[in-house]
Amino acid sequence: MTKKLRRSKQRSRMLELLRSTEQHPTATWLYDELRKEFPTVSLGNVYRNLSILVEQGYVHKLDFGSTFDRYEAADGQHAHFMCRGCGRIYDLPMPDLEGYSHRRDIDGHRLESARVEFFGVCHECAAETESS
Ligand SMILES: [Zn+2]
Ligand SMILES: [Zn+2]
Repeated sequence: MTKKLRRSKQRSRMLELLRSTEQHPTATWLYDELRKEFPTVSLGNVYRNLSILVEQGYVHKLDFGSTFDRYEAADGQHAHFMCRGCGRIYDLPMPDLEGYSHRRDIDGHRLESARVEFFGVCHECAAETESS
């Protein structure tokens, strides 16, 4: 197998992995998963492939200002909720921003996408605090 082919195989596997999870994983998580199938893969490969997938629009990079970047497969728009207790990121339906999400332009600016992020304590962490 040529090197190039192997690389694109890893890349399509990465996309599959991202599509199969709701965890919004880090590059390290992907690296650990990929290594099971491609023992020679390096973390550098993973980052390179991720940036290609982001560039091609298949993957979104989430910036929550945390230490690690998280990634997810790009499939429609949704809002995110990040728990400050466990650090998990949940998908939420996109709220209706007074019709903004259906508009093609705002004050003459061409609208391409929108991002909504909520922060707080998730239902599991909230339940834990209550029971202790
Ligand atoms: Zn939580
Ligand atoms: Zn998401």
